[in-house]
Parts: sequence; C-alpha cells; structure tokens
Amino acid sequence: MLKPLRKLTVICLIVAYLLAIASCSGYSHEQVIESEPGLLTATFIDVGQGDSILIETPSGKTMLVDGGERAAGDKVVEVLRERGIQRIDVVVATHPHADHIGGLITVLQRLPVDIVYDSAKPHSSKTYEDYLRLIYDKDISFRSARAGDEIVLDDSVKISVLWPPRTDAGDPFHIENLSVNNASVVLYISFGDTTLLLTGDIEALVEEEMIRKGSAPEAQVLKVAHHGSSTSSSSDFISMVRPEIAVICAARDNIYGFPHWETVRLLIYMGCKILMTETHGTFALQSDGKTWTVNP
Ligand SMILES: [Zn+2]
Repeated sequence: MLKPLRKLTVICLIVAYLLAIASCSGYSHEQVIESEPGLLTATFIDVGQGDSILIETPSGKTMLVDGGERAAGDKVVEVLRERGIQRIDVVVATHPHADHIGGLITVLQRLPVDIVYDSAKPHSSKTYEDYLRLIYDKDISFRSARAGDEIVLDDSVKISVLWPPRTDAGDPFHIENLSVNNASVVLYISFGDTTLLLTGDIEALVEEEMIRKGSAPEAQVLKVAHHGSSTSSSSDFISMVRPEIAVICAARDNIYGFPHWETVRLLIYMGCKILMTETHGTFALQSDGKTWTVNP
C-alpha cells in the first residue's frame, strides 16, 4: 500500500511519461462505424451518479466524454455495443474524479481507443492510477487538453477546448492551483448552426473567469455543470450561455441532493427545457446542423 504522497508522485510520473510519449506520436481514424449519416448525435448515458456522454459525428467518428463510476463501465460498453460501435476515436476524461473516469476503465479494457485527452490534473486515487496504468499498458496516445486546443474528429464538426487554460505555474488558474472539479475539461461542439457545451464539474469560480476572458459561449444545449450543483450554474453564466436545452446527469435520490433546487429553478426561470438522466434514463439529442431533436 503506497502512502498518499508517494502515490501522488507515482501518478504524476505516469502522467508525465504518457504526455512525453504522446508528444512523439500521431494517431489516425481509419475505421468505419455505424451511425446516423449526416447527423450529430449526443447520447447522455444513464450511469447513475456521474457523467458519460457519447458523441457520434455525421461521418461516424466517435468521442466518449467520461464514463461514470467504475460500476457503470458495463452499462457504458452496453450502450456503445447497441450503437454498433466497435472502437472509439477519442476519449475525454474531464477530470480524475471516480464518477467521471471509473467506467472508462472498463471501456479501455474492452474497446480499442485511439487517443485519450485528459485534464492532467494531479490526483491521488486508486481509480485514477488504474486508469493511467491501463492507458500505459495498452500504449494508447495520451494528451492534456488545454484551452485553445481543437480535437479534430470530423471536418463538419468543430470541437474546441475552452478550459483549463494554458498558464504559467504561478497563475491562480494554473492546473495545480485549481480544485479537481475546477480543472475539468470544458468542450464546445458546433455542427452547422447547432451548438453544445459540455462543462464537466466546473464551479462558479471558473464560470466567472470564462465570462471575464470572453470564453463563455452561447450554446443551444448545455450539459449542466457538476450534476446541477448550486455551486455551479451562476445566473451570470446561464445568462451568457442562454441554453434552450439543459441536460442534468445525476442519479435518483443521490446523497448530494443533485440537482439542487436553486439550479433547477434558475434553468426554469431562464426558459430552458430540462432533460435529466435520473428521469429520462439514457437519451440522445440529434442535430441535422439546423436544430436539435430529442431522441428517447
Ligand atoms: Zn462529477
């Protein structure tokens, strides 16, 4: 059993090694996957308390953002198999908490994955260590995601990383100075006239900074941050994003009381259509480039 500090050092070394290897290697997407031709599909997988979002592009490329808790891994793989997915082009781990990366372990064990984008936020946990060791053992490309990066998946779909920023070590928003939630990778996806914002578990502090830097975009669909916690989704941020559809990923009767009533009340007040995994189960939103359609 490693002591916590030693364990964190080991984890930091694995991350540094994976990033060093990744900078020397490329990757390609050569496989053909069954999907809805011409449509962008975002499937919000009901993983109980946690996040897992599958993006399928018009040309059949796939990106899995988070995988729920470790126990949810089988469910995520089942949904992938149901959609005819044999391999994944891109996995994004928004941040190293177990309700986001736990299920990715099963996914990485069972399906080939081309590349993993990670917050690279130092974190000491058995789950994060197991996930990193698997990436190392399977020789999967590994990169840190930073604001300004673009994830190239499909020519018709733009995937921009909006957070965390690439800053100097002394900066208050440097990755090492952020809490694990606030180190979450935030993704902005646009296809034609339609947009989707995935916010991981960022909190109001980051929302304020994104507004200050002019990097809080309008988005028709918002994956509400941190399972609908009242420590996120400030009224300033929601007013800036102006979502038409707000998606909340949370388990029924979870111990945190997510989603918090203040958040739900604000979203209702802002006129959002609210979709929740706890009531709708797994559901998909599909875009033809002009509008989003809810697909139960
Ligand atoms: Zn979470």
